[in-house]
Amino acid sequence: MSQAEPAAVAGKIEDLLALFHQGISTAASRARIVAGLEELRQVYRAEPAAFREQDVAVLREISAALAAAPPLSPALPRPDPRQVLAEVFGHPSFRPGQEEIIDTVLAGRDCVGIMPTGAGKSLTYQLPARILGGLTLVVSPLISLMKDQVDAAQAQGIRATFLNSTLEPEERRQRLRDLVAGRYELLYAAPEGIEASVGWALERLSLSLVAVDEAHCISQWGHDFRPAYRNLSGLKSRFRVPILALTATATRQVTKDIIEQLGMEAPAEIRGSFFRPNLLVCAYKKGEQADGSVRDQIRRLVGSRPGKSGIVYCQSRKAVEATAQHLAEHGCRAAAYHAGLPPEVRTRVQDDFRAGAIDVVVATIAFGMGIDKPDVRYVVHRDMPRSVEGYYQEIGRAGRDGLPSHCILFYSWADVMILDRFAGEASEGERERQRAQVREMYRLADGRGCRHQRLVGYFGEAIRPCQASCDRCQDLDPLHEAREAVRQRAQEQAASRRRPHAAAGPASPAAPLAGEDGALFDRLKALRRELAEEHGVPAYVVFPDRTLHELASRRPQSPEAFLAIHGVGPRKWELFGPPFLRLLQER
Ligand code: ADP
Ligand code: MG
Ligand code: ZN
Repeated sequence: MSQAEPAAVAGKIEDLLALFHQGISTAASRARIVAGLEELRQVYRAEPAAFREQDVAVLREISAALAAAPPLSPALPRPDPRQVLAEVFGHPSFRPGQEEIIDTVLAGRDCVGIMPTGAGKSLTYQLPARILGGLTLVVSPLISLMKDQVDAAQAQGIRATFLNSTLEPEERRQRLRDLVAGRYELLYAAPEGIEASVGWALERLSLSLVAVDEAHCISQWGHDFRPAYRNLSGLKSRFRVPILALTATATRQVTKDIIEQLGMEAPAEIRGSFFRPNLLVCAYKKGEQADGSVRDQIRRLVGSRPGKSGIVYCQSRKAVEATAQHLAEHGCRAAAYHAGLPPEVRTRVQDDFRAGAIDVVVATIAFGMGIDKPDVRYVVHRDMPRSVEGYYQEIGRAGRDGLPSHCILFYSWADVMILDRFAGEASEGERERQRAQVREMYRLADGRGCRHQRLVGYFGEAIRPCQASCDRCQDLDPLHEAREAVRQRAQEQAASRRRPHAAAGPASPAAPLAGEDGALFDRLKALRRELAEEHGVPAYVVFPDRTLHELASRRPQSPEAFLAIHGVGPRKWELFGPPFLRLLQER
């Protein structure tokens, strides 16, 4: 009887011990341990010789601890989500929708969460993962992003890992062993893996929650259908845990598909807000600016933002190439990206952009899926996008860290005509639909009234005029500012040529903030780059820009003060805090 071989028995005891070490504070964990003990008891009755003396002692100890454990009250006090938000994630408050989704999941109910890109969907499963204990499975479609997602979660102090086809067999086995031993709380996996080895591993893990990210991929009606998402249909009936489906875009039909395909039971449907007040939205009609072509305007916009990350979207590959070249010739760190480039070039551009080795990517709409760089400071549309959905997705890549970021649209009726021509080959119904979408976009660009109000209104949300974040409500004119910045720099350069010894002066024209803070910010940024390299993570995983800005302006002098800065939790403090504090104390 193979079950009673000493090695098999020792393995089972090890697993049981691992479960025991995960804790016995929930009914589920106790039930699993009791079942494990019972199984081993039966083996012992049949084959006592398979048990070493120390095995028996361990089992006795576990049973004694269970017997002595305090009775479970039906409502064990759980950590308060707000407290976990502050202590683990370092955020002062929830974004719209987050708390409602988290409460739903913690109450054990299935949930469809619909929040725009950048609104903070990851937190809605990461935070419950910490509170629920056990393991949360995250199904995510982009293998290329899993490592970054896991790195970011780990830097936050979350015990996260991933399983996918990129792992060597030995590494994979080790991770599975660690998972079974309860060393992780968050597991990312691709839908393709769920049927394969991840699937059987799940049987041995105490699963608390399944989160399905980019859940619209399950629907044929969605814009990104992935057949492998159909592998997830059995998860609910198999594991009986709450399912959280997350997506940025879900029409009625797609939501219905998600619920059906995942076998969700009476799910709550929670929508975050589509309003992103930190996006400063402006639009310019082509040809209405006195000084120069759209190309000149873009060159000044980019040229006046050295060291800041940006994306310039163009309608055609040809325009992408020409614009990127023009920017590079004028000293901007720019690269082109479109679907006609070889995959290795595209990957390199993406990596360089993420790492901050280039400032600006000039791209067609092919650039985007998987860009979750939080500090993109501006998105320019050289041409009008073909739909409001597309426009919203693209500007949504700016300002994910919550800092002010410009979204600058150039549009014209000629763009509408060109887009109509693109639609020429489609079937008649499809062509009509596209023509209508293009005109909707034109009306949004050219119409009156608050741009944010109209934009979120398109997605069925009603808000008051933003009053501060668009060029209809406020006197925003980034083209004018860029022109002024360029003129001022030219004057300074001329002046310093007239005064050959001026190099000793304190001027630092490219610094992001004025005076002292700017210099300090640069030093903080340099330190961040060093630490990022040392840890092999993208710079923003160390600290986002917003944190560096606050450090530069508030200059904390103690660990307590440092921990009060936006984006600093205890884990981040431990990993990265002390060298930054030393730098701040030096001054
Ligand atoms: P999504 O998946 O919805 O596109 P992410 O989960 O990637 O968005 O989050 C985007 C950014 O928002 C991340 O940099 C994250 O740290 C930040 N973020 C999430 N929740 C909050 C919050 N409550 N307060 C401040 N920043 C947050
Ligand atoms: Mg996401
Ligand atoms: Zn407005």
